[in-house]
Amino acid sequence: MFLSENKIRYVFFHLRQHVTGEVLEPDRFHVIEDGGPIPDTATGKVVFFLSEKEDPTPVMTNFQGEQLPVLFELKNKQEGLFHLDDKGNLIFHNDLLSSIFYLLSGIQEVEITQKDRYGRFPFAFSIQKQLDCVHLPLVNYYFEMIISGLDVFAKKNALNLQRRRLFDDFGFFLSHDVDRVAFYHPFRVINRIKQLIGLAPLGYSYAKTIKLFFKGILYNLNPFQKQDPWWNFDWLMNLEKRLGIRSTFFFLKQEDRFDNSLYKFHFKKIKSLILRLKDEGFEVGLHGTMRSAYDLENLLRQKKDLYQVLGYQPQGIRQHYLRFFHPQTFEIQQDTGLTYDTTLAFAEQDGYRNGYCYPFHPYDFEKDQMMDIWEIPLMMMEVSVLQYRKEGFPELRKLALHYASEAKRFGGIFSLLWHNCRLSNVEYHGVTDFYESLLEEIVEEGGEGLPGEEIVKKVSGTVEK
Ligand SMILES: [Zn+2]
Repeated sequence: MFLSENKIRYVFFHLRQHVTGEVLEPDRFHVIEDGGPIPDTATGKVVFFLSEKEDPTPVMTNFQGEQLPVLFELKNKQEGLFHLDDKGNLIFHNDLLSSIFYLLSGIQEVEITQKDRYGRFPFAFSIQKQLDCVHLPLVNYYFEMIISGLDVFAKKNALNLQRRRLFDDFGFFLSHDVDRVAFYHPFRVINRIKQLIGLAPLGYSYAKTIKLFFKGILYNLNPFQKQDPWWNFDWLMNLEKRLGIRSTFFFLKQEDRFDNSLYKFHFKKIKSLILRLKDEGFEVGLHGTMRSAYDLENLLRQKKDLYQVLGYQPQGIRQHYLRFFHPQTFEIQQDTGLTYDTTLAFAEQDGYRNGYCYPFHPYDFEKDQMMDIWEIPLMMMEVSVLQYRKEGFPELRKLALHYASEAKRFGGIFSLLWHNCRLSNVEYHGVTDFYESLLEEIVEEGGEGLPGEEIVKKVSGTVEK
């Protein structure tokens, strides 16, 4: 790819999340167009060639015993990842810079114009689907390939090189989008009539819908109402406190009839929940409404509303339905003064939408520069696996532990979204037991459960622009 100086700087900025030292001094690096000559004067340099191709030309490459796709190959194919020439130059055999930029910046989402019915980039059109590699943080692997070369080079030239990791084991970023809080809300009970007479799509079987309808009627008529299955915040907080996890709760404002939530931040019950979460050390963030993904004024209003209840400026956001327009939504979030977003997962598929298990800065293609806001990539939401992919709990567990082990390998993060409204045994038999044991396992693996704002604080202290 043709990479401008800013794009190259962008890749090197993120390389510094993993390595530092004399070996990274800028004048050591030569970036040359594919096929171009290495200048005669170059001695003791690190040489990257840039492919002239705009679209990926994937090639399988062996790295530490694994076969991995590298997105951009070079004309002059050579065995191995790199070599040192007789002038002491380190020369890489694939275009790793373009491969990193392509995935990390998300440029495929601008170039490929297909969208799903919510305006989202569909997994089906991604390079990850094409190469069957969505479950691998390829960008982390590419950085490792670069570092393996730099390591040999540094030893040969007696230069200092230090590895760095964000976490000794890995960070576990657990979050909850508070979309729905009342399973027996009268609106939902009435909606079941519509479902039964065919005016709305059924969420469950006909028999179960009838049962839930009558349960809902009884619940609303009973003056000694029991706990609503979706109002499970005490249970959530107690479980997480027992395991030493502090998670982030993203709250969604009611807007435009039924597209968003059925509550507002200042409702008495919601306000006291928000304040309790804050007092107990959890993070409260914004779950941007459908409209806020493209409407700055709208998002500003929501942030102000939340601020008035919370008492401090919320730092993080996730867009409802993972609705996202690249880079417009980032610009809006950034202009609103938010510090990080954590929307970027494929809605219908768990894995790595940007190929990376570290927080990163998005790229503004129009201005050709790195943006200030951070993205904490989302790797898994429970609905992608259980609903879109129709898998069961055992498969979800296997996948979660896989992402945890990738995070551990690189000292990065595993981020998991679990909705409070998908933790009800009335709807999903055995879900609370499963969820509890899953969190236990992740913590046993070494996951340090931190809210997004603390992960961002940790990462922004480590790398200079
Ligand atoms: Zn949502």
